[in-house]
This record gives sequence, structure tokens and C-alpha cells, in this order.
Amino acid sequence: MSPIHHTYDALVVGAGGAGLRAAIELAGKASVAVLTKVYPTRSHTGAAQGGIAATLANVEEDHWEWHVFDTVKGSDYLGDQDAIEVLCTEANETVYELERMGLPFTRTPEGRIDQRRFGGHMRNYGEGPVRRACYAADRTGHVILHTLHQRCVKLGVQFFNEFQVLDLLFHDGACCGAVAYELASGELHVFRARAVILATGGFGRMYRVTANAHTLTGDGDAIALRRGIPLQDMEFYQFHPTGIHRKGILLSEASRGEGAILRNNDGERFMERYAPTMKDLAPRDMVSRSIYQEIRAGRGIGGQDCVHLDFRHLGRDVIRKKLPDVNDFIQTYLAIDPAVDLVPIQPTAHYAMGGVPTTVDGQVRGDGKDAIVPGLYAAGECACVSVHGANRLGTNSLLEIVVFGRRAGRRALTDLQRAEWLPLPERPDGPAREQLERLLDSSGHELVAAIRQELQEAMTTWGGVLRTGEELQKCLDTVVGLKERYQKVRLEDRGKTYNTDLLEAVELGHLLDLAEATVFAALARTESRGAHYREDYPQRDDANWLKHSLVRQVDGRLELDYKPVVITRFQPQERKY
Ligand SMILES: Cc1cc2nc3c(=O)[nH]c(=O)nc-3n(C[C@H](O)[C@H](O)[C@H](O)COP(=O)(O)OP(=O)(O)OC[C@H]3O[C@@H](n4cnc5c(N)ncnc54)[C@H](O)[C@@H]3O)c2cc1C
Repeated sequence: MSPIHHTYDALVVGAGGAGLRAAIELAGKASVAVLTKVYPTRSHTGAAQGGIAATLANVEEDHWEWHVFDTVKGSDYLGDQDAIEVLCTEANETVYELERMGLPFTRTPEGRIDQRRFGGHMRNYGEGPVRRACYAADRTGHVILHTLHQRCVKLGVQFFNEFQVLDLLFHDGACCGAVAYELASGELHVFRARAVILATGGFGRMYRVTANAHTLTGDGDAIALRRGIPLQDMEFYQFHPTGIHRKGILLSEASRGEGAILRNNDGERFMERYAPTMKDLAPRDMVSRSIYQEIRAGRGIGGQDCVHLDFRHLGRDVIRKKLPDVNDFIQTYLAIDPAVDLVPIQPTAHYAMGGVPTTVDGQVRGDGKDAIVPGLYAAGECACVSVHGANRLGTNSLLEIVVFGRRAGRRALTDLQRAEWLPLPERPDGPAREQLERLLDSSGHELVAAIRQELQEAMTTWGGVLRTGEELQKCLDTVVGLKERYQKVRLEDRGKTYNTDLLEAVELGHLLDLAEATVFAALARTESRGAHYREDYPQRDDANWLKHSLVRQVDGRLELDYKPVVITRFQPQERKY
């Protein structure tokens, strides 16, 4: 079997906000193809609800320096401050750019882009909440994705839809292309390129209760890890406080931004005790932890693992106008009415702070530190720049994907002026083909769905919001055991067309590798910081742990390394809200 060959100057892997924004920079100036495993507008960016941060100061005073401070503090001082300055100083420009592309933002009565409150975004270095999130009702990601997609179509970007990338190609340590599987035909395609931009999104499907789409299996991160590139800060995984109980479907933080409040079984507004200034709008790590502490103290609703989100005082009009999707989700999935009923919620797996380490221009750091991998870039949730450190603030991810998607595209374009065509490895599709054949020919007896379920259960129980060394060890042992069983999975479908069974098996392999890396790094970090909360080490420990982790696969085993955090303006302080 020989693969089908293609050649482009630049390949973008992923058609979410980050990939599309990168492609726009390259379109018309270089030949560019976007490969995506789902139709572009089905990317998870389209599910983002609440907003995109920018200090436009349209409704009240605001400054980018305040935004930098909030992001640094929100990150529990693990974010690199040089990168955070880039994020915040380029925010207004990128948001206005989206507006000029035709993005239909919600407006103030004077016709400016309206702004709302969001967790951890504050005025004057921590005095109280500020209106910083630009939004389009609670469909902000949806309109960003459609606006960027339409722009790509207009610019003639070539899309390969339902093409799933399985491997990256290298020559002497430089990236020279990718191998993809075409879902419709089962054919392998080899794409030769001088620049490859990874924008494959997150990996929240390793958890049982998750707000992430089925496609979020961390393919880009897992492929990079297997190809010897370290992943940074994997132990930091964000749980969003308000997922629908048991289902995990997200009720945007915009709900609390518009004034909804959390209550325990006694009807108490418990966040007043944990965060006296910001209350329900404290950052997510804190709110999720507080919810679990209430549940542990026996104040969950009816003894269950949930608390209530109370919208009733907002009135039906505000709910319908400002939170139409949240309103719909509650009515559809719970068959109750937020204007009159209390809504049961629990924290839900949401966002990967960790990922492929990059510079502020999206260049991949081959050793996690100074070595750049020529020809390879990453942007969006799969990358770790790092602007979110140990905990991301709401609305900073939509901002990150446009700011750093644009930067990665620009940098790739600059590098293309000098980049040569490198030879492809002999049999470029070899490793990918062998991986598929192993799965298709396996005579084992293990089922993908069963292993996935056990993985999600273990990660949710032992690798979630509250962690201990003992539980993390159990989790790691479980994941390692599941990896062994994975070697013996059997597929129901061995056909060539639309074999989603096969791709789900590939994706499960990615989730297993990333779960192992997450727990491995979490076990080593004997402190609590941001989303990584160790009940056996409840304090932040700057003397020993103010550093990024880098986890690498060497001969199939994981190894850890560390590097310092970049601190420019703000020295670590105690984190109060
Ligand atoms: C429910 C929800 C609500 C959110 N709300 C907000 C919000 O209000 N504000 C905010 O700032 N952030 C929010 N976030 C976070 C934010 O939306 C995401 O982090 C961000 O959109 C990720 O964008 P991305 O471009 O990196 O990846 P995605 O949009 O996830 O796109 C990934 C792309 O990669 C492609 N892909 C993946 N693997 C492969 C492969 N192997 N081969 C080919 N293609 C592949 C997919 O097809 C897809 O096109 C929310 C997230 C969720 C889940």
C-alpha cells in the first residue's frame, strides 16, 4: 500500500480558533492546508460560551497592567510573565480585528462592544470585579469560530476535513510534514511541508465528568510526546466549577458574571467564607475546591456530590437575553427552569493548562527550554506558552487562541522565507501504518470502551480536584495497567470506510499516554498550587516548586525535568480573593 502524497508550504493541524487564526496569517502568502478530524465549525472553540478578555474599558476603567496582574495571580505565579504581557497587550488589537472581520459582539446602548464580569478579573490590582469580558450572548466561541472559518474560506485556505493526523515527520530534528488518515476512505496521506502548526486543542476526555467534546483527546500533544518532545506543566488540569450534575455539560461562568450565586444544602452562599472579596467570582481552582470542601463537610445537596447554582433573582428577562444557551441547557438536560428552580451543579473537567512548550511566537521548544524544533509550531490549548500557569482565568483562552494563533502563523511565514525543503524519511507512513495494522489485526479481547471508562473513572476519582500521594499512586498504577491491556484491544469494525472504531482506539492510546504524564508529574509535585491541590501538601511551596515541570518519554518510560518561571513585574504573594 502506498500513501497519497501532498505538498504545501505550511500545514495547520486543527481548525479551532487557534488553527484558523494561524491559517489566516499564511493565506495568500504561502500555500497552506488545514487538516481537521471534524468539520471546522464543529471544533470545540464553537462550544465556548462566556467571553474573550480585553481591557477595552468600554463600560468602566480598565488597564492592560491590571489584566497582567490578574492573570499572574490567577496562575498562582506559575505563568511566565513575559508571555502574559504579550497576551494582555495584544488583546485589544486582536478583539478589534475580530470585530472588523464581522464578529457580532453584544453591544452597549451606545453601540460599543459590551463587557461583563468574569472570575479573577479585577480592577486596580485586586480591589474588586471589573467588566473585561467581551461577549456575544453566551455563544462567544461559536461566533469566533464561524467568523474565522468564513475568513479562511474567503482567503482560499485549503481544508482537508475528516483527516486525522497520526504522526509527525522529521529530518535531522526538523519537522518536515505529517501523516493523516482519511476517515471516508481509510487511506493514508503524507503531507510534506516546510512548516507544521499544531492546534489540536485539549484532552478533557480523560475524565468521566467533562465539559469537553468527544474529539478532545490530545492527539497533537500525544504525538509530540511520542516523538520525544516534552510536555510542560501537565499536572495542572482545570476543573470548571459549574457543570450540570453528573453530565458535566458546562454552564458558563458568565452565569456568575451576570450575578448567579452558589448555595449549599443549607441555602448558604458559601463562597463568602472562602473568598470574601470576589465571592462567586473567585478563580476556578478556588471555587471548585470550595465546592468539594462543602460536599465533604456534608453540605452537598441532599447528601450528593453537587451544590446549587441560583439564577432566580436575575429574572427571566436577563436569563433569556444574556444567557440564552445556559437557559436552554438547563431546560433541555434537567427539565427545570432557572428562573424558578435551583440548578444542581458539580465541577467538570474543562481545560488543560499544560501542553507542548512554545516560545511567544509558537515555536516548539524541543527540550522544553532553549532548543527550537525547526519547522514545528504549536498554538491554542495544545500548547503551553505559558500564560495560564497553574490555573487559567475564564475568557483568557479565547484570547490566547487568537493572539498566539496569529503569532504562530506570522512566525511560520517569516521562517518560510529561509526554510528549505527537507527530504522525507524513508517510508514516511511506516509507523502510522504499523500502528493501524496492529489495531486492525489484533486478536486480543479487550474493548476500547471498557478501558476508556476505567481510565475516566480513575482520573476523576484519584486525579481530579483533590489529590493525595496515595491516590495518585493508585491512579498511576491503574493507568499503567490499562496501557498494558490496551496492547490487546480488539476492534469490532475492521473495514476501510468511516472506521470510527479504529480512530477511537488511536485516540484512547493518546489519552492513556497523556493521563500517565499528568499523574506522573502530579505525584512528583509535593505542594499545592492553582488547580493542583495536594491534601497531603496543602501549602504552596515557592522555595522548592516555583518551577515548570517538563515530562518526556524516553524508551517508553517517563522522565521529569524542571525549568524556572519567568518573573518580570510581580513577585509571588499570598493569593487572597
Ligand atoms: C464548553 C466550553 C466552554 C468554554 N468557554 C470559554 C470561554 O467562554 N472563554 C474562553 O476563553 N475559553 C472558553 N473555553 C476554552 C476554549 O474554548 C478552548 O480552550 C479553545 O477554544 C481551544 O481552541 P483550540 O483552537 O486550541 O482547539 P479546538 O477549538 O478544540 O480545536 C481543535 C481542532 O483540532 C482538530 N484536531 C484534533 N486532533 C486532530 C488530529 N489528530 N488530526 C486533525 N485534526 C485534529 C479538531 O478537529 C479541531 O478542529 C471553553 C471550553 C469549553 C469546553
